[in-house]
Amino acid sequence: MSDYVLPAPAQPALPVAGTSALFPIRRILCVGRNYAAHRREMGGDDREPPFFFAKPADSAVSGGASVAYPSATANLHHEIELVAALGGGGGDISPTDALSLVWGYAAGVDLTRRDLQNAAKDKGQPWEASKGFDQSAPIGPIRRAEGAAQPLGRIALSVNGQSRQDARLSDMIWNVAEVIAQASRLWRLAPGDLIFTGTPEGVGPLAPGDRVEGLIEEVGEVGFTIV
Ligand code: MN
Repeated sequence: MSDYVLPAPAQPALPVAGTSALFPIRRILCVGRNYAAHRREMGGDDREPPFFFAKPADSAVSGGASVAYPSATANLHHEIELVAALGGGGGDISPTDALSLVWGYAAGVDLTRRDLQNAAKDKGQPWEASKGFDQSAPIGPIRRAEGAAQPLGRIALSVNGQSRQDARLSDMIWNVAEVIAQASRLWRLAPGDLIFTGTPEGVGPLAPGDRVEGLIEEVGEVGFTIV
């Protein structure tokens, strides 16, 4: 075994609720426009197939942390999302088998440089700078999945105590099993993969000093301050 020429980067990881153990992150996939009302607020129609983008594994930050207002944007947006944390993997997974791969769930926020995203859309450019920047994925503790069904309850986010997003996971256009199945046709999934499953309506801007609190019923919470 050869030595590395540089110190190996730290393994990105998230806390697991109720234990001192950590969940190692392999990579982060995200699905876009998975709630009809959010799709409409972003100017889409209701019949597009799901599409995916990615964030680097080291863009994840544990809930409770401070998140630096990112450079190069004047319109940082919050998107509260159910995050599925995979304990299994494979390719071409059927929706029937997909939930058996889920190790646990967490509440996450897909932070977005909306101005850069809109400019990229206009120019047909990629989304890395608008979606995959440093600290762009605050995520709360991962809760072990219990049972075969996905959570279907409330998903909500407030900023400085004021409600911004408040919907139901059951409003997803493609449920968690369908999202995993679709992703597995594009990538071979593996343990440690996280999948952000899309945000409901009510996305909006954040400013330095804002306190963000997200919650997902039966899953957990995520909270952070923009500094
Ligand atoms: Mn999103």
